[in-house]
Order: sequence, then structure tokens, then C-alpha cells
Amino acid sequence: MTDRYAVIGNPIGFTKSPFIHGTFADATGQDLSYEAIEAPLGDFAGRVDQFRAEGAKGLNVTAPFKLDAFVYATELSDSAKQAGAVNCLKFEGDRIIAENFDGVGLVRDITVNLGVTMKGRRVLMLGAGGAARGALLPFLRQQPSELVLVNRTLSKAVALAEEFAGRGPLIVSGYAGLADLAEGYDIVVNATSASLRGEMPPVPGNVFQGAKLAYELAYGKGLTPFLRAARAERVAKLADGVGMLVEQAAEAFVWWRGVRPSTAEVIAKLTVPLS
Ligand code: NDP
Repeated sequence: MTDRYAVIGNPIGFTKSPFIHGTFADATGQDLSYEAIEAPLGDFAGRVDQFRAEGAKGLNVTAPFKLDAFVYATELSDSAKQAGAVNCLKFEGDRIIAENFDGVGLVRDITVNLGVTMKGRRVLMLGAGGAARGALLPFLRQQPSELVLVNRTLSKAVALAEEFAGRGPLIVSGYAGLADLAEGYDIVVNATSASLRGEMPPVPGNVFQGAKLAYELAYGKGLTPFLRAARAERVAKLADGVGMLVEQAAEAFVWWRGVRPSTAEVIAKLTVPLS
């Protein structure tokens, strides 16, 4: 019997997940269907109850339901607990098992697809929202020499640093304090949502000096203000979050189906040129 999966969010019209998982399923010969569900705001649980009652096997979860999924789950993986959010569910009888693959997908895109080593490197991460939070531990596991976390609302970054104290060389700053910490990053990651509104986080231009990679988590937007600024400073590699999107999907696919799909072709098909 064909196994049913879906991505759930609101709005959901923009989602690339049915294309990604459909391509993975075709390439690996897996018998599954994958749809997009727009759940009503305020009734995530009701809509997922219905999908489970129809015999569904799993769900990807996107905005704004990652915290609802965290509450809905009966079992949380370490990565879901550490991220404080869930982006993937697996249904096994009464068990609702939850994972978060965003951080591991981002690290895989940086280290495998883009070939940029994080070990021993100085990394700057802008933003302290859900995506940054999910990336913190996977980043620290790569053993950077220093991970500097900067956020507009400093208290959020401070709270994260307290939570992750002792897990690695994590330093916190507001944008104003960044001037003193600004130079010499190997990797600069924009995990803010500023680009979704065409805005630029208020970083000094010299954060890009000598950087090997500027990574924008938003995807499908071409050159964002952040990537444009990095290009002006001649950063060696620019990337947006399309690879992260496809890699977190691949992690979900492996978890659900026990088969690792290849990702390069899907990333290539979804890539919007950075020009
Ligand atoms: P959140 O809403 O949880 O967090 C937003 C963050 O951006 C906060 O730290 C906020 O700061 C900061 N911010 C917003 N506007 C500005 C600005 N103008 N200047 C400086 N900081 C700003 O969002 P998410 O963490 O969920 O998403 C962040 C980005 O990651 C989005 O672009 C999203 O599309 C992308 N993303 C990509 C994924 C992928 O697969 N490629 C997966 C998930 C997310 P403050 O705390 O001060 O408000």
C-alpha cells in the first residue's frame, strides 16, 4: 500500500517539499505519496489527528507550527529538544516521534555540498530565532574555534548562550558590540529573517573580510542584501538556504524510509541563481 506523507504549514502554497520528496521517492523506488496541508491557524492538532486517522506515516512541519509539533509529539529526539522545535514527525501506532533536521541539514550543506570545513574555523551567526537555535548544537559539534552569536534582541542570544553553556566556544553579542569582534570570520551565516523583507542585519562591512563563505538561510530570493554585501567584500563562496532545505528533507527521508536519496540534482533544480 502507498504510504502517505505531507508537509504542514500556513500558508503552504510556496512549499517545495512535495517536489523534493516526490523526486526522492522516484529516484529510490519508494512507494509513497506526499502532499501539502494548510492547517488552520490554531488547530494544528486537529488537522494532524485527522491525517493520522487516515493512516498517514509522517509529516514535515513548517512555519508557524514547529512549536505546536513540539507539544503534539509523544517522543522528542535530542535534536528536537535542543532546538526547542520540531520539523519532522513519524507516526507509529499511538507513538508520535519528533525530530528536528534543520540544523543537521545546514551543517551538511556547508561541509559536504559546499566543501567548507567548520572545524577550527571562526563562525559568525546572525539571529537567535528558531533556525539559529536549531543550528547551534550541530555547529558546535563541528568544533569551530569560536562561534559568535549576534542578535538584535540581545536577551534572546544571552538566553541561548546560557542554555548551551559548556557545549563549546560560544560568544554572544549585540550588533553594537560586533564592531569589536568584527574581523576574521571564516564563515558568516545569516539566520535572521531580515532578507524575507529585503532588509540587511546591521553588521559592519568588515565582518566579511577574509571570509570563505557567506551563507543566507533564506532561499529562492537570489542575491539578498546580505549576499550582495558579502559579494561586495569579495567573499569566496556565497550560498542560500536551498541546500539546507533539501538536506533536511533528505534526513527526513532516511528516517522515514531507511534509504538515503541523492540531493545534488534536486538542489540544482531548485536553485535560483545568485546574480
Ligand atoms: P524567527 O522568526 O524565529 O527569527 C527571526 C530572527 O531574525 C530573530 O533573531 C530576529 O531578531 C532576526 N531579525 C529579523 N529581522 C531582522 C533585522 N531587520 N535585523 C536583524 N535581525 C533581524 O525566524 P526563523 O529562525 O524561523 O527563520 C530565520 C530565517 O531562516 C528565515 O529567512 C527563514 O526563511 C530561514 N529558514 C530557512 C530554512 C531552510 O531550510 N533553508 C529553514 C528554516 C528557516 P529579534 O530576535 O531581535 O527579533
